[in-house]
Amino acid sequence: MKRIAVLPGDGIGPEVTQAAVRVMEKAASIHEMHIFLEYGKIGGAAIDDAGEPFPEETLRLCQNSDAILLGAVGGEKWNSLPSEIRPERGLLSMRKAMGTFANLRPASIMKGMEDASPLSPRVIGKGFDILFVRELTGGIYFGDKGVSAGDGEHSAWDEMSYSEMEIKRIAKMAFEAAKARKNNLVSVDKANVLKSSRLWRSTVDKMSQDYPSVKLRHMYVDNAAMQLVINPRQFDVVLAPNMFGDILSDEAAAITGSIGLLASASLRSDGKGIYEPIHGSAPDIAGKDTANPIAAILSAAMLFRHALGEEKAASAIEEAVRKTLADGKRTVDIARKNERPIGTRQMADEIIKNL
Ligand code: NAD
Repeated sequence: MKRIAVLPGDGIGPEVTQAAVRVMEKAASIHEMHIFLEYGKIGGAAIDDAGEPFPEETLRLCQNSDAILLGAVGGEKWNSLPSEIRPERGLLSMRKAMGTFANLRPASIMKGMEDASPLSPRVIGKGFDILFVRELTGGIYFGDKGVSAGDGEHSAWDEMSYSEMEIKRIAKMAFEAAKARKNNLVSVDKANVLKSSRLWRSTVDKMSQDYPSVKLRHMYVDNAAMQLVINPRQFDVVLAPNMFGDILSDEAAAITGSIGLLASASLRSDGKGIYEPIHGSAPDIAGKDTANPIAAILSAAMLFRHALGEEKAASAIEEAVRKTLADGKRTVDIARKNERPIGTRQMADEIIKNL
């Protein structure tokens, strides 16, 4: 019996998580897996309930589970709270507490979805398939921060630092992933300006000697942002520090057509981790049954693969999503002109039918 902690969160989080749970339960029954789902609170929902975004009870639930399925957190209601107790702090605390230092974000154009991309067909061509490996618990988001108001002049700082150990463990994941894919790795940094990037580059270079089959290239982050829209097909695996990976993987999400399509896994070395769509809580469409649940459903597929080792069930979910999209079933974010969109629940129904 595998235990899965389900943390729906806020906004569209509960709607897309519910869709993913229904798909997981169906896939589990088809593939004779025994899963036990246990619900917990995070983000704004936890603030309302327990006064903090990542309560002790949720931490214990996560620690006692084989994997965590997360929706999304955040919303207007909690925006005026001090930053230490805002919903987004719950996410950072969870990643830190669980030690999930690696964020895997696949970004590809699914067959039949080429027209959803804002890039021209000349650039998209036959599509692209990129895996981002983003460092998640270090760098500028976790560095020393502060504000000062000396002499009435305000200033603020955020420190960006990396240790060799932090770089090595994330780079190892990226090299291994590249070996299992097309042996093509691009490591992103800003080594022309930042000292932490110079250490990043030299550490990755040293490690490349252990992976002779992997072709390694280094790219400055500004160039990487440009190359993603000029020629996304050149990328296979992209390794990046926390902030650069955050920005580039959102850019990649946009060129696949919709942020509602992309899944992610935040892992530690033993594969245990947090599986979540890359989008936020989308307060503008919450409660309307219009959110695209595919990112959450593909996150559940990643959970089956990486946390439970259930490759068949994972592939079956991915195939069912591909078939549903190829059949022309679209939520409003990806619907073509003159196409009648379907809702969140119906999208899950269609994917379940195709399982
Ligand atoms: P967002 O991802 O929530 O929304 C950006 C845009 O994409 C919106 O127009 C939204 O309607 C649309 N969108 C997002 N997911 C969609 C889906 N599944 N289907 C269809 N359309 C979708 O980002 P935002 O608006 O910058 O942030 C809203 C809130 O979410 C904020 O409080 C932010 O802090 C939080 N947030 C949380 C996470 C997380 O929980 N991992 C990530 C990013 C943002």
